[in-house]
Amino acid sequence: VAIYDVSLTIREGMVVWPGDPAPHIERVRSIERGDHLNLSSLSLGVHTGTHIDAPLHFVHKGSSVEEIPLETLVGPAHVVYLPHTPLISIKDLQPVFPTGCQRLILHTRNSDERILRGSSFCQDFVALSPEAARWLVEQGVRLIGIDALSIASYGAGELTHYTLLSNGVIIIEGLDLYQVPAGQYTLYCLPLKIAQVEGAPARVLLVKPEE
Ligand SMILES: [Zn+2]
Repeated sequence: VAIYDVSLTIREGMVVWPGDPAPHIERVRSIERGDHLNLSSLSLGVHTGTHIDAPLHFVHKGSSVEEIPLETLVGPAHVVYLPHTPLISIKDLQPVFPTGCQRLILHTRNSDERILRGSSFCQDFVALSPEAARWLVEQGVRLIGIDALSIASYGAGELTHYTLLSNGVIIIEGLDLYQVPAGQYTLYCLPLKIAQVEGAPARVLLVKPEE
């Protein structure tokens, strides 16, 4: 079995969405400083690094993170590799989308260029067009993951997010799909169980069964 950890490491100085709070990690007690143990504190925005967007992010009274069924977050998933497109359209998806696919992971040049591993935010990332979002809803997709901090283009986030989230499609953002080949996997997406919030950091694994 090959296990791909497609989660970003949470650390101080990591890239966050412009205006979002930066993660702060502090060793509040330290053996080096004479305490008898080490103890750390962590503060961060819920859309930091690899995270999910729950319907509540864009839908008034939509479901929050802890209400998302685990059946959506765990199960068969398909990774498609779209290294050339600057904005994912219906035309990009049609030839590679497996009929009946419920969990779709979009590997774009964002991962190849490692834009989320750098220290500054890159506006020019590959995202999903609103039309393609609508098309995926019509195909019956329940979960979509992408290797950018937003599923939608910079400055044009509302329609793509709303189309997906108002139809109950869960979004995973901030995936690191570097060197993850296209194909069929089992997805394990485990967001922190935080009450009444619209997003949460998640540990995300793609597991490739023995062939
Ligand atoms: Zn988000």
